[in-house]
Parts: sequence; structure tokens; C-alpha cells
Amino acid sequence: MDLIKNKSLLSCLCEPSDSSINVTNPATGEVLGCIPSQSEQQVFEALDQAQAAQKSWAKTTAKERSAMLRRWFNLMIENQDDLARIMTLEQGKPLAEARGEVAYGASFIDWFAEEAKRTYGNTIPSHTEDRRLMTIKQPVGVAAAITPWNFPIAMITRKAAPALAAGCCFIGKPAAQTPLSAYAVVELAWQAGIPREVIQLVVNPSARIIGDAFCNSDIVRKLSFTGSTQIGRMLTAQCAHTVKRVSMELGGNAPFVVFDDADIDAAVKGAIVSKFRNAGQTCVCANRFYVHDAVYDQFVDRFVSAVSQLKTGNGLEEGITIGPMIDQASKTNIQSLVEQAVSQGARVVAGEQQREGLFVEPVVLVDVDHSMDIVQEEIFGPIAPVIRFSSDDELITMANDTIYGLAAYFYSRDINRIWKVAEALEYGMVGINEGLVSTELAPFGGVKQSGFGREGAKEGIDEYLEIKYLCFGGLDND
Ligand code: ADP
Repeated sequence: MDLIKNKSLLSCLCEPSDSSINVTNPATGEVLGCIPSQSEQQVFEALDQAQAAQKSWAKTTAKERSAMLRRWFNLMIENQDDLARIMTLEQGKPLAEARGEVAYGASFIDWFAEEAKRTYGNTIPSHTEDRRLMTIKQPVGVAAAITPWNFPIAMITRKAAPALAAGCCFIGKPAAQTPLSAYAVVELAWQAGIPREVIQLVVNPSARIIGDAFCNSDIVRKLSFTGSTQIGRMLTAQCAHTVKRVSMELGGNAPFVVFDDADIDAAVKGAIVSKFRNAGQTCVCANRFYVHDAVYDQFVDRFVSAVSQLKTGNGLEEGITIGPMIDQASKTNIQSLVEQAVSQGARVVAGEQQREGLFVEPVVLVDVDHSMDIVQEEIFGPIAPVIRFSSDDELITMANDTIYGLAAYFYSRDINRIWKVAEALEYGMVGINEGLVSTELAPFGGVKQSGFGREGAKEGIDEYLEIKYLCFGGLDND
């Protein structure tokens, strides 16, 4: 941790004890430091503090909240290098990607600092002479969030910024593998003048203790979750008891389609970005490639050659493009999916070599069949299975043949085909001749079992607002 200039970013660190959590560098296995774990009782206390602060936070003006968010954004940009280093150390992604995530994470704060001022209601033409109708928007109340390890900063800010902008107090639970980045950005929020009770974090190695406390609490009026579909289903059910507002950003199984009229070089470029960002550990990563028969060999040749340029290793080192997997369970799962695909007839054409530690070389698999497990499951690693197809209808059926519906990508230059396929894909986000769609300006979210609710964009703040209808009656109109 000597590489970090602004030591205040690591003020969450503590001495090791029975109740502390070790944070480990997945690239080296080295323990980076310890942070305190919160007991169930401490989580309840944090919720009580959030509740006590909720009224006064909701009363601040949008302009005041906006100014605080703006200061928070500025501090994040000033500390971009340190935040990126902390992220690479605990999460593993290459430093350049980590810097990109800090900027992406900060962009939500910038965006919602503006949107805070635009939570307009409506005036409604009345149905009677003596009444006037209008709506106002108000914060839902205390908002809780549970976030994953793959985007340790952006998943916090994408939820905290709209919550705070809307006038909600925020309490987050980052993944226990990557809490340092989350604490560092929250430390900056406090330094920006946002009261400590208004934005808090709690962590426990048993995620369930915190999940139960959030879901069963009457104080929490909104839960926003990003993670696996399996845990998302469970949390949605748990939140039913207190009828909370819920947003779920869950797993994906993104198809990446190359039609016979595609610009193949552009498709290869998009495929590399879409598949290998964060070593394939994102919910919008291309999970399965469908390539038209007529361009299959051409695409595979160029794709394999581009993949051979990727460099796997410690993300702090210059030139590294693929970091480690987050843990051994993840690596084992990825390897067994590849072995299974090979035993079912797939061929490895790139990435045969095995690596020590948590590293996995990027793999390209050909002769893959749509029914294989590697196509049906979310891989969450740098593995690219490539399937042949020959008709648009067959392609659409295969692309939609999944419980997931988060992101999809396709490459074509035929405007009729583009509209037909874009409308037929059952996904919340579709990249057309583009492998990277995320931006704070556009609504991020899925359909089917990839979840519901949208993050970012003008829609993002509505997840934290209630609509109140006001009916003014008894007016004398003479
Ligand atoms: P991933 O495969 O990305 O780790 P998870 O859904 O397991 O996906 O984890 C996402 C987040 O959900 C993490 O913060 C994790 O600690 C949390 N989580 C996992 N299990 C539970 C649970 N039973 N209750 C509440 N949160 C949980």
C-alpha cells in the first residue's frame, strides 16, 4: 500500500483481529490489509443512524445536494491514480482499466449532481372545475445497496449518487473481496461534506447477515442489488415481506453476433473489448459468439490473431491487458467449462497454455454447439466460444434461448436487418456495431432473469423517488 499517496483513502484499515477481514491481492496472494467486520448489531445501529438522518437530508435543497455531489466528483478525479491503484491491488484488473473505472464511477456522480435539480413533477388538467391536480416527487427513504467485486467503485457510485441526489440516505454493502475501493470513495464523499450518517458502508464476511438485516428492516425502503441471478432471486423474495422498492441488476449471457455483411475488422475489435474487459468478469461481457457460416473462418482467424496480442499478468505491470480471476473457485469453474466443452467436441484454437496462480490465458473455442454448457452458462472469464449459424431466424432463436436478457451485440451493415434483429432481441441493451455500451448517459439494465430497474440516465434517479399525487379540492372558480 506504499504506492498510495493520499493515505486518508485507506483510513478504513485496522489491526488484524478475530473480527477483521483480510483483503487479498488476487495477482500475488499477498494480504493487503484488514478492515473491521460489522456485527448484525452494528448493522442495525447503522440503519438507525441512517433513519435519524433521513428527514434532514431529504429537506436539503436539490441545489445543496448537487453542490456536495459535485465536490465528491472533483475529489474522485483528483484522486484517480490512487483509487485506481487500490482497485488493481484488491481486484486485479489492469491499471489502465482501473483508471477507466474510476472515471466511469465518477461520471455517475457528475450526472446525478445535475439530475438532482430536475426531479420534476407534473400538473394535470383537472376532471372537475373545483379541483386542481399535480404530482411531486419525493425520496423513497433510506436506500440500501449490495454490490459485487467486479466493478468495486462504479457499482457503488451508480447506486449511491442517484440515491443521494434524490434525497435518500444510503447504506451499502460492498463485496468482502473488494471493500477498500468502496471505502476509499465513501471517504471522499465524507470529505466532500456529505454527512457520515447519510452515506455509510457495512461489511461482514457472511454476506447473509447484512442481506437479512437490509431485507427484513422496515427502515430500508429501497434495495438495489447487483450480482448473481441466484442471490437476486433470494433477495427479491426476502424484500417482499416489507414490500420494498427493489432494483435488480443480475447475471447475463450476452450473445455477440457477426452477420455475413459485417465489417469483420470492426467486429473483431468489438469482440476483444466486449469479451476481455476485466478478464471477462463482467455481466455484459460477450459470453457466446455466433458467426455466420460465410465469414466464420475469416472472423476466427483475425480474432485469434487479436487474442494473441493480449497479455496476461499482474495488472500493476506495464502492458498487461488481462488480470487474474478473482478467486480459485472462479478459475476452477472456468477451467471445467472449457474441459467439458472440449469433451463434447469443441476445439481450443488459442490459449492452450496453463498458468500458475489465479491467471487464465484467453481461450478461443471453435466447433462449439449452442447446446453446450459453456454457451448456456455465464462464463465470467476470458473464454470465447464461437458457434456457426446460417440464417437470421435460427440466430434470433438461439440468441434469445436463455433465461437472461441483459446485453447483446451484433455486427451488420444492412439497415433492414439491423432494425429487425435489434427489435427481436430480448435484451435490455443492444450494441449495434459496438462492443461497449456502458455510459452514465444511457439506461443500464436487463429484462427476463437479468433483473429490472435501470441505472444511470434520466431514468436512474426515479428508482429512488416516489410520486405523490396532490389533489387540491373545493376551489371556488367564479
Ligand atoms: P458474484 O458471483 O458476483 O460474487 P454474488 O451474487 O454472489 O455474485 O455476489 C454479489 C453481492 O451479493 C456481493 O456483495 C455478495 O457479498 C452479496 N451476497 C452474496 N450472498 C448474499 C446473501 N445471501 N445475502 C446478501 N448478499 C449476498
